[in-house]
This record gives sequence, structure tokens and C-alpha cells, in this order.
Amino acid sequence: MAAKKIITVFGATGAQGGSVVSALIKDGTFAVRAVTRDTSKPAAVKLKDAGAEVVAADLDDEKSLKSALSGAYGAFVVTNFWDHFSKEKEVQQGKVIVDLCKDLGLEHVIYSGLENVNKLTNGKLEVLHFDGKGEVEEYFREACCPMTSVRLAFYFDNFLTMCKPQKSKDGNSYDLVIPMCDVPMDGISVSDLGPAVLSILKSPKDYIGKNIGLSAEKLTVAQYAAIMSKVSGKVIKDAKMPPDVYEKLPFGGAEEMASMFKFYLMIPDRDVALTHKLNPNTKSFQQWLEEKKEAFIKAL
Ligand code: NAP
Repeated sequence: MAAKKIITVFGATGAQGGSVVSALIKDGTFAVRAVTRDTSKPAAVKLKDAGAEVVAADLDDEKSLKSALSGAYGAFVVTNFWDHFSKEKEVQQGKVIVDLCKDLGLEHVIYSGLENVNKLTNGKLEVLHFDGKGEVEEYFREACCPMTSVRLAFYFDNFLTMCKPQKSKDGNSYDLVIPMCDVPMDGISVSDLGPAVLSILKSPKDYIGKNIGLSAEKLTVAQYAAIMSKVSGKVIKDAKMPPDVYEKLPFGGAEEMASMFKFYLMIPDRDVALTHKLNPNTKSFQQWLEEKKEAFIKAL
């Protein structure tokens, strides 16, 4: 029997890579090589127990990357802007990966990319954690490295953490502080990424060279809030905060997030129909929230 093709998965201990590892292992077509900086951490041990080959590599250490990618048919690549808040670093990490994938002859890379907003808006808007990924997408194309970019919408999972509803001043209700005015915002559960990546890997001819915007559905903030109220039994309302007020909120990254929402207001290209074709089990926001109801109420 021929050996299975190896897919090297970056960010395997995290949300995106973790979803990809779990979908690939469940399916069984590919062998999974999961990358972490620390193979002894509990999340890495879990991956090994689940059937992945777990290897140590660091996006800042080219030698380790070369060995993680050697012999692989393909890779899933995600870089984490929020680890360092540096566009330059994210671009540097991405470019090293592109050069290695090209030199080592990988046949299909799935890159977790996003738009180069600065370029798209002729310099009017800068979203550092988008722009860097956009530059890396362009570098992949210039290098003629066979790549599909998956551009994820806002994770529903953010509603459990940094974007959870805030207790309102009256103390009896909650405000959902997402500065989208009345414009619908795409969203997706990050756990639905893995099956979509698997479908893309299984049909390389259909998807190499494409940028795919993944989204389960588009809802206004008022609609997100209404579903939250229905599922949790709490009163949750759209705070109707404009981006210019949001960017002055006192938390690290508020300005960067506000720039992202300003770009979302331009309705980036996210393909709901293709997302459901790639992963027919993609959850709607309500389905996702019903699954996470307990964690959501606890987070409030
Ligand atoms: P995550 O859950 O925080 O996981 C980060 C992963 O990156 C971990 O597995 C970590 O592995 C790995 N990592 C970090 N630095 C590394 C390095 N130097 N070398 C090797 N591995 C490294 O992050 P995520 O949510 O999966 O992905 C974050 C990215 O998603 C960000 O760039 C963000 O812009 C993008 N994104 C987010 C959203 C959203 O709504 N939140 C939407 C679209 C795109 P170890 O610690 O095990 O080494």
C-alpha cells in the first residue's frame, strides 16, 4: 500500500491548526505532521495521542521549518499576528515558509490569508493583521508556489472572549459592542475550518490559485444580539457604537480591531455558498451558540 501523503500543519495546538488536524485525522486520507514550538505541552501530547506525528519547529527558525516541511506533500500554514502585533514579523515568517515550500516542492499549500487592505484601499486604510497576510499571499503567487488562501471571517468563538457582550450600565442587560452600524458581518466557527481545508486538499485542481473567503453566514449585530438573547435567556442589545468611538476603547489592539471593522463595513468577499459546499456541516451562528450555550452564559 502506498504511504499516505503528509500534510504539515502549523498552529496545530491552536484554534485553526487544531481544527485542521482533527478533520484530517478523522478522515484518514492524509498523514498529519503537527507543528508546535513545544512538543511536551499538553495540547501537543493530545495531538500525538490522536494519531499525529508531532514535530518541534518555530516560524522564526528556518532550519526547524525546513525539517518540518521536508517530505511533505502539502501544508496548512497559519501565522499568529496577535503573538507579537508586528506586520513585518508576520510577513517575514510567511515569506520564509513560501521559499521553503517552493524549494522543497510542496504540491499544495493552504495558507490562512487575508486581504491586503492597504493596497485595496489605495493606502486609505491600514489593517496590519490583514495587510501582512495579503503581502504573503502575493509572495506565494509571485513565487508560483501552488497555494489556496483561506480567508476566514470573524470567528463566532470571539463572542466567548474578547468580543463577549458587556454588562450595560443598568446592570440588567448586556451590550454587544461590535462597530458594524447596520451592515451584516460574516462569521464562522473556527472548528468548521478543518473540514473545508480537507475538501480543498482533496480537489487541488479546483482550488490551487484561488483565494476563498470562508463564512457560515452574514448577520447584522442586531441579529447576532437577538440570537444571543434567544439562546441565553439574557437581554443582549446592539450597542450601536461607531468604529471611531470603538478605536478609543481602553484595551490593547482596539485601534487595530476598529480598522478591521472599518474594512468589514466594505463587505469583503466571503463566499457563504462555497463554504457550505466545502463543509456541508458548517454551523450557523445559532447552532454554534446552542452548542456553546453553557460557556457563553459563564463568560457573561
Ligand atoms: P491560536 O489559537 O492563538 O494559536 C496560535 C498557534 O500558533 C499555536 O498553535 C502556536 O503554537 C502557533 N505559533 C505561534 N507562534 C509560533 C511560532 N513562532 N512558531 C510556530 N508556531 C507558532 O491562533 P489561531 O486563532 O489559530 O490563529 C491566529 C491567526 O488567525 C491570527 O493571525 C489572526 O489574524 C487570524 N484570524 C483570526 C480571526 C478571528 O476572528 N479571531 C479571523 C481570521 C483570521 P505553539 O504555541 O504550540 O508553538
